[in-house]
Amino acid sequence: MYKIDLSGKSAIVFGIANQRSIAWSIAKILSASGAKIIAAYQNDRVKDSVEKLTSQLEDVITVECDVSDEGNVQSAFETVKENCETLDAVVHSIAFAQREDLGGRFVDTDREGFRLALDISAYSLVSIARNAAPLMTNGGSMMAMSFMAAEKVFPGYNVMSTAKAALENEVRQIANDLGPDNIRVNAISAGPLDTLSSRVISGYRDMKKAHSDRAPMKRNITHDEVASTALYLCSNMSSGVTGEVIHVDTGYHVMGI
Ligand code: NAD
Repeated sequence: MYKIDLSGKSAIVFGIANQRSIAWSIAKILSASGAKIIAAYQNDRVKDSVEKLTSQLEDVITVECDVSDEGNVQSAFETVKENCETLDAVVHSIAFAQREDLGGRFVDTDREGFRLALDISAYSLVSIARNAAPLMTNGGSMMAMSFMAAEKVFPGYNVMSTAKAALENEVRQIANDLGPDNIRVNAISAGPLDTLSSRVISGYRDMKKAHSDRAPMKRNITHDEVASTALYLCSNMSSGVTGEVIHVDTGYHVMGI
């Protein structure tokens, strides 16, 4: 079996809140493959949980970073600079929208709810990529987590669909900006997974059932399947892949009904 070896590499992972976070599954697999992990967590609310989880990893540091604050993003990357020779991978696994904007009619989304969701869930990738790139002196890989609602209507996902469409577009534009520096930028479009964020989406249960009923593989995905795709994207096995949206959804996106 081919084993991916990330020894000597460093990865910053944004978006661990608890043991169900997609970011946690990714941090675990990158760490098990030898990477040093910089776990960037949102705030005090999740600090204890993140420190408890990351204490299980071999080589890890934690740093607070609320991505709505540009100064926080800059200081997170200062910490990376102080603690790592180079940065090789960036995992963006962050999203936020007001609960009232994740149900009902999309057309009722107000300006502030729209601004907030797009700022945290989409603009943050632009800011993170801009701050990360100068530290990725040997090239590397960035990735963001998306959902098929970027492409098709999923009632209830509402403003987060708009944020995911923006995020996927950013992935292509940043891939073009950073490609000459051998920095690849991709998105993983994951099927529904039970996490803190997904559970507040009205209609989430129906989305999950539709995937398991109708996807070619007739089941839902696992956290580990997203994590192993992230590992592939961090490794040289994906050295020619950039600007891509990889669906990890047991094939749901290819179906017409
Ligand atoms: P999660 O709640 O575990 O992770 C979301 C993370 O975003 C949390 O760690 C939270 O602290 C962080 N966050 C929110 N606002 C922030 C801010 N201002 N600054 C810094 N961090 C902030 O849920 P998850 O499902 O693991 O979500 C991770 C990513 O995966 C999101 O982009 C989500 O849209 C995407 N995704 C999830 C699913 C799913 O079904 N769970 C499917 C496809 C894509």
